[in-house]
Amino acid sequence: MKILHASFECYPLAKVGGLADVVGSLPKFQNEISATSKVIMPYYNNDFFKNRSKTVDLYTGTIKIDKLSYEYSIKELKSNEINFDVLIVYIEDLLDRDNVYGYGDEVIQYIAFQLSILNWLVNENIDFDIIHCHDHHTSLIPFFVKYCYEFQKLKNIHTVLTIHNAQYQGIFPHNRIDLLPEFNQENIGILDWYNSINPLATGIKCASRVTTVSSTYLEELKEKANGLEGLLRSEEGKCKGILNGIDTSVWNPYTDVMIIKNYKISNVISGKKANKQKLCNTYAFDKDLPLFGFIGRLVGEKAADLLPKAIEQALDENRINILILGSGHKEIEDQLIELKEKYKGRFSAYIGYDEKLSRLIYAGVDFLLMPSRVEPCGLNQMYALRYGTIPIVRRTGGLKDTVIDIGDGGFGICHDQASVWDICYSIKRAITFYNDKKFFRSIQKRIMKIDNSWNTSAKKYIEVYKSIQ
Ligand code: ADP
Repeated sequence: MKILHASFECYPLAKVGGLADVVGSLPKFQNEISATSKVIMPYYNNDFFKNRSKTVDLYTGTIKIDKLSYEYSIKELKSNEINFDVLIVYIEDLLDRDNVYGYGDEVIQYIAFQLSILNWLVNENIDFDIIHCHDHHTSLIPFFVKYCYEFQKLKNIHTVLTIHNAQYQGIFPHNRIDLLPEFNQENIGILDWYNSINPLATGIKCASRVTTVSSTYLEELKEKANGLEGLLRSEEGKCKGILNGIDTSVWNPYTDVMIIKNYKISNVISGKKANKQKLCNTYAFDKDLPLFGFIGRLVGEKAADLLPKAIEQALDENRINILILGSGHKEIEDQLIELKEKYKGRFSAYIGYDEKLSRLIYAGVDFLLMPSRVEPCGLNQMYALRYGTIPIVRRTGGLKDTVIDIGDGGFGICHDQASVWDICYSIKRAITFYNDKKFFRSIQKRIMKIDNSWNTSAKKYIEVYKSIQ
């Protein structure tokens, strides 16, 4: 079975969040079972493409968007950091940007990427059984292959859409419909959702199967999905929640070159101690106090707006240290920077993206905070468990599916509301566990044994593909 994953992110080539981790690991595990999976993604003007890889030209073609022609090339990526095939779409001045997202012409970027893939498949007679689309950036592909005249040759190809995050839908107004290639106008209604062209909604309507990255997230989306709840309810027959896995070879405290001391279950206590010591030296924290971390986008979905108040209250009431790594809303960033001054030696925040620091945090903190309002799957909690760090989570989406509260015989700390009170109460519970050294250490060892690898989930995707053959 030949699968082409179309995505805007893929670790380690270009990463903003969990989408990259999934697309950068799922194909590897699918290739170990009964599939040949490749990834196709845009070229970026970043360190990986410029300094850590080479490309070989495979094909050059032209696409048209609203009377403008764009020359694109499909390249094969050569890098010893990747162990599955990656294809690149390069379009000068359009898909060779420094960053993955955040450009005023992003609608054209997404359309150009999708059209280039399909144009190449048609012109070179390239045969895939399934195009697996990831999020709204690629979710017009199922519509294009079904209804656009120029892609008629592909109309029997099956498509799967995975929703990693339904908050972002790629919406644009009807007066920009000329950006799309010619299609049978009888189907114009398929593009519409609440009087706009909605790529994610279109993908849900047209894909052969739709998956979400956890079962609980699918259930939640049927109730609340930024306007798509009714659609997801009506299409539920073809939807399935499949929990993301983690790449246990990339996320392995025994081999991770980005941490200070490697460790496995047998020496987790000394291993974590050395990594915590490094963090404490860097941020002038007291190594004997419980250390809490947070890694992620500073946005409402992650409940990051609650962090400044929760941090203040938690630091005023308890003897603890807190470290934040993330970037996002300026207002939250500014509040955290202010708190850094106020609580020097007890709280710090690194505003930005830093893979190495994130690994050190997973390895060195005692608890990882994830008070998310929305968490489609969440990978951080699974990385934390793998590194012997206890997750503190709100019971939502994939967090609910992967973390069981210590009080229920589990290994994490869970709360129900996205509120300052809930976060602070969970921190107090965490301190109690931290002080019970024997119990705390037994949990650290226990959580490192939990299997959140792709072994089960990669097979579930193959079952989905087989169900449409
Ligand atoms: P998202 O909703 O952002 O995709 P996920 O939990 O699915 O959330 O994935 C987040 C991924 O991004 C994890 O690998 C996490 O370690 C990483 N990450 C998030 N923010 C940062 C940051 N500021 N620096 C380094 N890594 C980060």
